[in-house]
Amino acid sequence: MTTTNTAITVAYGDGIGPEIMDATLRIISAAGARIDIEPIEIGEKVYLSGNTAGIAPEAWESLRRTRVFLKSPITTPQGGGFKSLNVTVRKTLGLYANVRPCVSYHPFVDTKHPVMDMVIVRENEEDLYAGIEHRQTREVYQCLKLITRPGCEKIVRYAFEYARLNKRNKVTCFTKDNIMKMTDGLFHKVFDEIAAEYPQIENEHWIVDIGAAKLADTPEKFDVVVMPNLYGDILSDVAAQITGSVGLAGSANIGEHVAMFEAIHGSAPDIAGQNIANPSGLLHGAIMMLVHIGQPDVAEKVHNAWLRTIEDGVHTADIFKEGLSKELAGTDSFADAVIERLGQQPETLNRAEYAQGGEKIMTTYVPSRDLSSIRKATVGVDVFIEWKGGSPDDLGNRLSLASGGGVKLQMITNRGVKVFPGGMPETFCTDHWRCRFISDGSSETIGTEEIVGLLRRIDELGLESIKTENLCTFDGEIGYSLGQGQ
Ligand code: NAD
Repeated sequence: MTTTNTAITVAYGDGIGPEIMDATLRIISAAGARIDIEPIEIGEKVYLSGNTAGIAPEAWESLRRTRVFLKSPITTPQGGGFKSLNVTVRKTLGLYANVRPCVSYHPFVDTKHPVMDMVIVRENEEDLYAGIEHRQTREVYQCLKLITRPGCEKIVRYAFEYARLNKRNKVTCFTKDNIMKMTDGLFHKVFDEIAAEYPQIENEHWIVDIGAAKLADTPEKFDVVVMPNLYGDILSDVAAQITGSVGLAGSANIGEHVAMFEAIHGSAPDIAGQNIANPSGLLHGAIMMLVHIGQPDVAEKVHNAWLRTIEDGVHTADIFKEGLSKELAGTDSFADAVIERLGQQPETLNRAEYAQGGEKIMTTYVPSRDLSSIRKATVGVDVFIEWKGGSPDDLGNRLSLASGGGVKLQMITNRGVKVFPGGMPETFCTDHWRCRFISDGSSETIGTEEIVGLLRRIDELGLESIKTENLCTFDGEIGYSLGQGQ
């Protein structure tokens, strides 16, 4: 337990941000939090001053110095090329694990799921959030889904370590690897590998669609749930909402060097400045922060006073229910009610207990295997072409003339479905064609020379290539998907 003060960087954010941050800081200060606050300016004002990242250089310096960030939600202005500050901060500082406990407080907060205590561990840096998007043709737009072995190993190990340290019994993984066999397939594979190292913790995998349905229907069946970024983003909001209100849940964004704590909800501009917002989400973020900085005593005091306040029926408008709640509180008066109860314990709900370091897991990434000895060979190339000139057979017959120089046309797909040779007339085609060329057998592999020669011949045929993807094998294993129907 630390006795000296810890410097923390604080951003008051936009919308309801300043109100809920004031309430949160008032509560944790009254509970004796040993912190020195370094305020920084981020968000709307910074964006509108012309900084498209929404964060100034001095703010980065503060974050690098304190390594602990308590952040209110911010508003990302629509359009105008503004990048999401949350995504920027998470990725720049390597905050790879987003931890979102979702707990129901039955019978004090109205919920259809009285027994719910789940922690969603969301991968925070990769997947479709790499932010690499292109308009490739007049008709087609693309967003790259990047899943890496280091990323999977870090997040899955974090989930199992979290379960181990917090005495949780089961880790569930959600992916869509029946469709995305390579990207989500890797996440699932790494999950199975790491799960085998924790025989004392139960593990299971669900395809995300039925998993999500089960999560919304019987959340009590889940304990720790780990998933790639997009599924985790969506399902942690669902999980928080079905506890009673999205305004209740906090979140920790953990990296090897820095950690950021926040509410899971946004800046709620519709209720800003009215002193009616629920500060509980940010307060839960702050409780996780207190554990993280070695002040579990303060975290426990705040959490138990908060539980008692909820039990006593002092509720903000988002969770207020006639007959269940006793007092409708504003943001300020809710904070006052929690402060009044510091030192008290809940009578019905489970008491919060934080062992020293209970939620702090800064796992340094150690690769589980050396990938450098893997033999990689390029055996072909997919050339993407923008074309709107006729039937797939027209394109295939014309493009066959580009075969030669070590490569031959194998097939053409449109949105992943094979349309040449032997396509079906019913298949709808856009102007975006994936044309697969493989080695013609004169050599097992192809290189830059063959690819450049091919692109030149395609150009000479009057066709427009828009990108290429190398087709590789790794120790003889195919590293690319086949066309549907191939
Ligand atoms: P939101 O979470 O701000 O609001 C959704 C609904 O929930 C609103 O009706 C709101 O009034 C209510 N709500 C949210 N928090 C509440 C609280 N603490 N107490 C009571 N009610 C609460 O989502 P949104 O409207 O989609 O987004 C608004 C802005 O927030 C957008 O600019 C978005 O980009 C931003 N945002 C920021 C973050 C973040 O900074 N971490 C996260 C999500 C959204």
